[in-house]
Amino acid sequence: MSFVLDATALRAGMSLGGERGEFFTTPGVINEIRKGPVARSLELAVEISLTVAEPGDAARKKVLETAGKTGDSGRLSETDMEILALAWELKAAIISDDYSVQNVAAVLGLRTESQIDGIRKVINWTYRCRGCGKYYDEKQPDCPICGSEVRQVPKKG
Ligand SMILES: [Zn+2]
Repeated sequence: MSFVLDATALRAGMSLGGERGEFFTTPGVINEIRKGPVARSLELAVEISLTVAEPGDAARKKVLETAGKTGDSGRLSETDMEILALAWELKAAIISDDYSVQNVAAVLGLRTESQIDGIRKVINWTYRCRGCGKYYDEKQPDCPICGSEVRQVPKKG
């Protein structure tokens, strides 16, 4: 199963562990995220496994048409359109709390999941030394073993 994530889903720091499928987002979402104070979580999300892909013109056209019919076009941002188009192209589910996105997705025959009751799994954070790779439960100013920087990373499994 593939999933397309919107900015809110990414901001929430989803675990993109891969057990449940493949995760995608669009360049527009990445740009939105980069503007916010969450570049750090994005960096992590990308580290985990997130494919950034741009939908083709046919998919964009299909979404525009559909949003026009449902009356959602005025409420959808360019990024929302991208997400919908990419999901339609990939036959992927969308993770978004946006009502208009969910509405258009339903008409397109796409599955949506909201963050609250969806596949979301909040990352359990842990700390890992960039030098020797040792994990710590607590934040460390520097690695007590090798003195390298200790970074916050998502816990595996
Ligand atoms: Zn170390």
